Amino acid sequence: MDVSRLLDDLNDKQREAVAAPLSNMLVLAGAGSGKTRVLVHRMAWLMEVENIAPFSILAVTFTNKAAREMRGRVEKLMHRSMHTMWIGTFHGLAHRLLRSHYAEAKLPENFQIIDSDDQYRLIRRVLKAMNLDEKHWAPRQIQWYINGNKDEGLRPHHIDTHHDHTQKKMQEIYAAYQDACDRAGLVDFAELLLRAHELWANNPDVLAHYQNRFQAVLVDEFQDTNNIQYAWLRMLCGDNNTIMIVGDDDQSIYGWRGANIDNIQHFLKDFHSPSTIRLEQNYRSTATILNAANAVIANNEGRLGKELWTQGSEGEPVSVYAGFNELDEARFIVSQIKSWFDKGNSLQECAILYRNNAQSRVLEEALLHENLAYRIYGGLRFFERQEIKDALGYLRLVSHPHDDAAFERVVNTPSRGMGEKTLGQIRQTARSQNCSMWQASHLLIHEGGMKGRAANALQTFIGLITDLEQELNQLPLEEQADKAIQRSGLYAMYQAEKGEKAQARLENLEELVTACKQFVVPEEAEEMTPLAAFLAHASLEAGEAQADSDQDAVQLMTIHTAKGLEFPLVFLAGVEEGMFPSQMTNDEPGRMEEERRLAYVGMTRAMQKLFMTYAESRRLYGQDKFHTISRFIQEIPSEYVEEVRLRSTISRPVHNRFSRATSHEAFENSGFSLGQRVRHRKFGEGVVLNYEGSGEHARVQVNFAEFGSKWLVLAYAKLEEA
Ligand code: ATP
Ligand code: MG
Repeated sequence: MDVSRLLDDLNDKQREAVAAPLSNMLVLAGAGSGKTRVLVHRMAWLMEVENIAPFSILAVTFTNKAAREMRGRVEKLMHRSMHTMWIGTFHGLAHRLLRSHYAEAKLPENFQIIDSDDQYRLIRRVLKAMNLDEKHWAPRQIQWYINGNKDEGLRPHHIDTHHDHTQKKMQEIYAAYQDACDRAGLVDFAELLLRAHELWANNPDVLAHYQNRFQAVLVDEFQDTNNIQYAWLRMLCGDNNTIMIVGDDDQSIYGWRGANIDNIQHFLKDFHSPSTIRLEQNYRSTATILNAANAVIANNEGRLGKELWTQGSEGEPVSVYAGFNELDEARFIVSQIKSWFDKGNSLQECAILYRNNAQSRVLEEALLHENLAYRIYGGLRFFERQEIKDALGYLRLVSHPHDDAAFERVVNTPSRGMGEKTLGQIRQTARSQNCSMWQASHLLIHEGGMKGRAANALQTFIGLITDLEQELNQLPLEEQADKAIQRSGLYAMYQAEKGEKAQARLENLEELVTACKQFVVPEEAEEMTPLAAFLAHASLEAGEAQADSDQDAVQLMTIHTAKGLEFPLVFLAGVEEGMFPSQMTNDEPGRMEEERRLAYVGMTRAMQKLFMTYAESRRLYGQDKFHTISRFIQEIPSEYVEEVRLRSTISRPVHNRFSRATSHEAFENSGFSLGQRVRHRKFGEGVVLNYEGSGEHARVQVNFAEFGSKWLVLAYAKLEEA
């Protein structure tokens, strides 16, 4: 047996981990040290040397994209298909279990997954039903409370309210929300994990079956597991199965969502004689990038402590660019990408990473302006877009008419002349009869509770869904989607809207049909109808790979989404106080350290070249905010940094990268300042980039959104503040 190929491209420490005898193992190591690579090779080793069947291996990754990649790599090493191996995210695996054992999990066979948006709406409805004022019971906070408890494995009756009035009320809302979900057969994301855990806890034979099956469990990005996930793993492994976890405490970035960094310590205590292997060589980044990132993370306390070095070249310094504002920042980033591309490199080697999703819009516009293709991961998720959710709403109702979330979403979209009053009546009946809104509608019509126009409108809607149910039956998936989009009137509605936005929505709806066409029912969903499988897919995958993946495109995503990935050229945008670290950071203990870990994750995505950019002023929620350079840039020793200045013609006041923003000082008597937004009668809106001369000779350079950069004589330009 030739197993050398499984060990060839590994260093000694990595080999030690890959070829270790069957045992519990922790691989603890910094970014880019080959943890994921070790995990993949270990899986191959287990099959080839320990003779463990693919069927008996379960691997957990953090995103569906990572899961797909992992499967591909194992298959490449083994030269065969690994379809019986379970590789997925915690949520994906939990979903798979619940589908197979819906009855034991006390779920209806056709239960639906609801995303966080649906959950939010449902909570609002529950509050309304309980006559609670949203001003006092903020739905977001309740959502947080419910998910937080679920992540800890707590049902309402487990919660100790300490006889506190507010606590008790929260507990009641949680219980009422859960009732509503159970009645309608809806499962939120946190519920997937909790149910899967309860499934095993309450059904020893089901648990025994999986314990017998999965001899080897492997977990990537372990530092971001939460308590319920940990408990689930613990239960699965029992006393006989072995687990390998890999992780990096410095990359724990989901504490705000309940991840528990202490799980690494728990693992060492709870599992039978675990060994720890540390990897110390980084293969990803240049020495400069690595040193810069190491210097930043060194400011955190209470780390488990890891060394990280590289044999790689020193590389270029980390470039820091101070934009006048976010438009200028975006323009700079795009110009750098353009010159990278013009040198013959590919676009997909470039990633723009940001702290918040909302930052993407300006970047997108700058890319569009330069005709550079881009793809967004996460965030503006395809399946989360309004029109897509509308269309999916119809499909959901057709496949499961008791889905109240879907009912609410589409009953009056497009408008069928149904007012709030009618809807209120339906909700009220559903509550009092303890039934779904679908059933309530039938009751209201047939038992005469509703009359006249309202009843007609409702009847039309019910007729439509019933007809669709008949018509879609037996059609291929994409035709089902197409029919639903057309027959529901959604397409016509957006067609009538006109304008670019509506056009984009129509394109998205068309794209949905394409997505259905390309959809391959995954093996675990073979029992389901293609439509049900697609709807589950849409909820779970929510756009992780929305765009056409063959196209060469710049990659845009939040730093959270970039976890585990690597790119030759990386831009970290918006690295300024108030953005990153974010405004909220100061309010919560431990948040700053988590924020710094996020900076570490962001910086260590870069292989060859890292840019960190910020904007001295940024328009947020309609207001210009002035920000200073982020502490995370200042924590990098200056030997690794180079400040990028604008082209030499610029006569803007030179300012040190550590100085406060000076460019907003109004220039002499002109009434305008650098970076300011202005409006020109003919050229529209733009940003002041530069100025020269004085008095009647004063000229100003403005970068117009539509017309690009122009020099104008101030005396004639008649610029106004925008
Ligand atoms: P992260 O913490 O960001 O998830 P990681 O520790 O999982 O990083 P990998 O993604 O597995 O690191 O590896 C980083 C890069 O280094 C990859 O491109 C990988 O192929 C490469 N690499 C890992 N080990 C070796 C090795 N022994 N020889 C050559 N390249 C390696
Ligand atoms: Mg990794």
